[in-house]
Amino acid sequence: MYNVYGVIGYPVKHSLSPIIHNLGFKLLGLKAVYGTFEVLPEDLEKAVMGVKALGIKGLSVTVPHKERIINYLDVIDDISSEIGAVNTVVMENRKLLGFNTDWIGVLKAFETNGVSLKNKRVVVVGAGGAAKSVIYAMKKAETKEVIVYNRTYQKAIELAERFSVIAKPWEELEKAEGEVIIQTTSVGLNSKVSVVGPEVLARFKVAMDLVYSPLKTTFLSYAEEVGCQTIDGLLMLFYQGIEQLKIWSQKTLPSESLDLIKKELYAEIKRRQGLDDKD
Ligand code: NAP
Repeated sequence: MYNVYGVIGYPVKHSLSPIIHNLGFKLLGLKAVYGTFEVLPEDLEKAVMGVKALGIKGLSVTVPHKERIINYLDVIDDISSEIGAVNTVVMENRKLLGFNTDWIGVLKAFETNGVSLKNKRVVVVGAGGAAKSVIYAMKKAETKEVIVYNRTYQKAIELAERFSVIAKPWEELEKAEGEVIIQTTSVGLNSKVSVVGPEVLARFKVAMDLVYSPLKTTFLSYAEEVGCQTIDGLLMLFYQGIEQLKIWSQKTLPSESLDLIKKELYAEIKRRQGLDDKD
């Protein structure tokens, strides 16, 4: 019998998570399958009850459910509670347990690019759900200072209070400076718009964009132009997924298997985005 896992979100049809997990299960030698469950916000509670009733073993949780799903789970761990968002669910003895692996995905993306965040001044653009995990990760990495800019200033203030960081109004983003800049808004998703231009990015050494569609966003292109080291959002997706596999299977994949999954993930996004493999 195969165990069933999946991602719930809306929209979720084009999720790349099945690539990570179905190959991961195979490489772990597990009899498990992973699919996509498109769940409207108003159906979330019913969907979670359905997960329990059907005996689905685990879920990835994506936009827009990461925060509200907490209300329908039996237990969440301390980190998800501190972040205020769950992206991973495990069913254990008919109880649904919630975890967060997004923050680990962020840290691993920096780590594998050889970037140390310790004592760095970090600018976070955006104050939505993803920004919470990013800011939590920056605190864990012992950065010197984290400054959050958001279009809706009140949301930046709320996150600043929650994580003891600094909030600044959107109008001041043009003056932002630091060593690392992390773009967490949905600006640039399937479009050529960037939250800042090259003149702002020239004041940073490293730039990460959480958006990975397109893989090289205009934000990252500008950053590259002015000599920043760039980190794409797909690497975060990859590592948060690998952590989910660890939680579900209680096993760790060897580095050759991780390389294989990463290669397949990048090949798939390039296929979908019509990019040359050299890009
Ligand atoms: P969210 O909770 O809906 O937050 C959206 C954020 O984008 C808010 O800060 C919002 O500002 C801002 N925003 C939207 N349109 C804007 C505009 N025109 N101008 C300025 N700011 C704008 O979404 P989320 O969960 O944080 O996700 C944000 C992005 O990160 C999405 O594209 C998602 O796909 C990506 N993401 C990637 C990963 C990964 O693994 N790479 C993980 C999670 C998320 P307001 O508060 O003013 O509305």
